[in-house]
Amino acid sequence: MTRRGFVRGTGLAVAGLALRSTGLRSAEATGFRVALLSDTHIPADPQGQYRGFFPVRNLAAVVPAVISAQPEIAVICGDAARLTGEVGDYEALKALLSPLAERTPVYLGLGNHDNRANFFQVFDPLPEGRQEVSGKHVAVIERPGVRLIVLDSLLYVDRVAGLLGKAQRQWLAEFLEKTDDRATALLVHHTLGDGDGDLLDADRLFALIRPHPKVRAIFFGHSHVWGITERAGVHLVNLPAVGYNFRDQDPVGWVEASFSAAGVDLLLHATAGNRDGDGSRHSLRWG
Ligand SMILES: [Zn+2]
Repeated sequence: MTRRGFVRGTGLAVAGLALRSTGLRSAEATGFRVALLSDTHIPADPQGQYRGFFPVRNLAAVVPAVISAQPEIAVICGDAARLTGEVGDYEALKALLSPLAERTPVYLGLGNHDNRANFFQVFDPLPEGRQEVSGKHVAVIERPGVRLIVLDSLLYVDRVAGLLGKAQRQWLAEFLEKTDDRATALLVHHTLGDGDGDLLDADRLFALIRPHPKVRAIFFGHSHVWGITERAGVHLVNLPAVGYNFRDQDPVGWVEASFSAAGVDLLLHATAGNRDGDGSRHSLRWG
């Protein structure tokens, strides 16, 4: 058996790592620390590039930084693969992630440049947290005071729009109804606007979470833009892409997060593109 995905590692960190003071670790030691990545766009060909960015090199540089930050988990919010979700893309991704996956569970959401069937040829189903949702790849991660729900908005491979779909929306509504009131964040690939390339059932998503004020934040990627906004009292966090930006003004990189019952602290790691915001901190409160 060579297939092996999301494998929880031995938990043994390399000795030197514990001595390095990075990011949010020292200040918010009690929080649930999560590395938030999106849009890695890994091609099978390591020389694959777009707009002068090499997604393989970018992720290869980000993985040791994530390991240094010692998060409890990492999440990739979709568009893990280059364009069409080829098996070779996922094999390359798995190899790049393996130093991290040996230490930290890595949860992969699916986006419009992923292919669900190919994805599962390379990555095994989650060992824990996997939810039974027809045709979708959904995970729930719970800690005291905090719950993360990784949703699946992949509708068509290599076309722009996304959809949660009725079965997933119904599952989410029932899940939110039956679970306790701990602060909940949703993670999904697609942007939540009303454009033809956004999450096509975004309004229905907001309608279904409205009776559940415990849903405090939604994280997403897709636009390759870093931004924090709000809608109907829900914090919206657009994660930068790891692979490349679409505009020179946007950072490329990842976000270190520390969740608590009172909110989430975010630290931007802008590793390429516009790096002006590198190291900037954002505190979203809901407690
Ligand atoms: Zn993308």
